[in-house]
Amino acid sequence: MTGQYRIVVLGAGYAGLAAARRLRGAPGAQVTVVDARAEFVERVRLHQLAAGQRVTRRDLRATLERRGIRFVHGTAIGIDTAGRRLTLADGGTVDYDTLIYALGSHADLESVAGVRDYALSVATAADVDAMRPPHGRVIVVGGGSTGIEVAAELAESRPDLPVALVSSEEPGAWLSDRAREHIRTTLDRLGVRVRAGVKVVEVLADGVRTAEGEHLPAETVLWTTGFAVPELAARAGLAVDARGRVLVDEDLRTSDPDIHAAGDCAVITVADGRELRMACATAIPVASHAAAVVAARLRGAQPPALRFRYHFQCLSLGRRDGVIQFLRPDDTPTPRVLTGRPAAWVKEGIVRGAARVVRP
Ligand SMILES: Cc1cc2nc3c(=O)[nH]c(=O)nc-3n(C[C@H](O)[C@H](O)[C@H](O)COP(=O)(O)OP(=O)(O)OC[C@H]3O[C@@H](n4cnc5c(N)ncnc54)[C@H](O)[C@@H]3O)c2cc1C
Repeated sequence: MTGQYRIVVLGAGYAGLAAARRLRGAPGAQVTVVDARAEFVERVRLHQLAAGQRVTRRDLRATLERRGIRFVHGTAIGIDTAGRRLTLADGGTVDYDTLIYALGSHADLESVAGVRDYALSVATAADVDAMRPPHGRVIVVGGGSTGIEVAAELAESRPDLPVALVSSEEPGAWLSDRAREHIRTTLDRLGVRVRAGVKVVEVLADGVRTAEGEHLPAETVLWTTGFAVPELAARAGLAVDARGRVLVDEDLRTSDPDIHAAGDCAVITVADGRELRMACATAIPVASHAAAVVAARLRGAQPPALRFRYHFQCLSLGRRDGVIQFLRPDDTPTPRVLTGRPAAWVKEGIVRGAARVVRP
């Protein structure tokens, strides 16, 4: 090979940007980031954007090029693994020596009838940008962290809207008793009507239908359960799991030795056999590690070992309340929880820290 070693990072979300940041200035290498969007919008603030709040947008080309990282604005539609080349929707191509695949995830619109046609999603910035503002009676489907955060944010920012949270499980079911109780109390205080133990089986033009056959009327349905990943990796012949997530080894290397993967699109298994969850809290450290492995290989050095553990999980409950759930190393909740305004401050600090991936 002549010239610089070409490292291409596909996806400028938390994972891709963390990897690019770690690799900038790697001797002898040119780092290129490719993304379908021209700007970075903090995904962990999309519930705020959906609730009508202002969220900063950062121009990717300006930010990356200031740091000596090339930016290509384009949607990847194919990976030729033998030719080490990405194909873009506009007909362009990007060649690589090493690819870091970090395409993230999006809402799963297919698992339940009517979601694609009638529900709104806060899963990606494109979803929220395309969304009509929530109006009338709002049903948020899903008691996971996204559903809880969206329901609380909407209820606080838009007290004119009646908001219900409908979930097959208790909201925050995986958290400690104290955290769950605080979520319930706060949702009550914000006027969110919680319907737990109710499974939505269809989204309709005028509400949702439950497994018991009940029709719950709504003018706006926000779908927050289930994330899917892009099919590009599977189509390129990389080994994937049943959900299409890329399988990686402890060096974040895929079944193709020239391609590493990190973030929501990858299945990352740690020493005790546990799969890491889809989270910004996973994407940033794991992608930085993938980049460190690539940098070490480039120097001919031994790649470092992945050392990862969760310390806490943070949920916002509007702008003035939240829950910080402290975790054991295996990601299970301890009884220790921080709530209220201090929790909101901690969460805000962590969200700002995560956005450093896009700062010079
Ligand atoms: C409302 C909401 C709140 C959240 N809150 C938290 C939280 O508090 N804490 C937490 O840890 N996690 C949170 N998450 C989850 C977190 O946002 C994701 O786990 C994280 O963004 C994953 O990072 P990523 O880089 O893998 O993917 P993404 O951030 O999704 O980035 C993927 C990038 O790939 C690009 N892309 C996709 N397809 C293509 C293509 N074909 N060609 C080119 N580019 C493409 C996209 O434009 C995007 O920029 C939240 C998620 C949501 C939706």
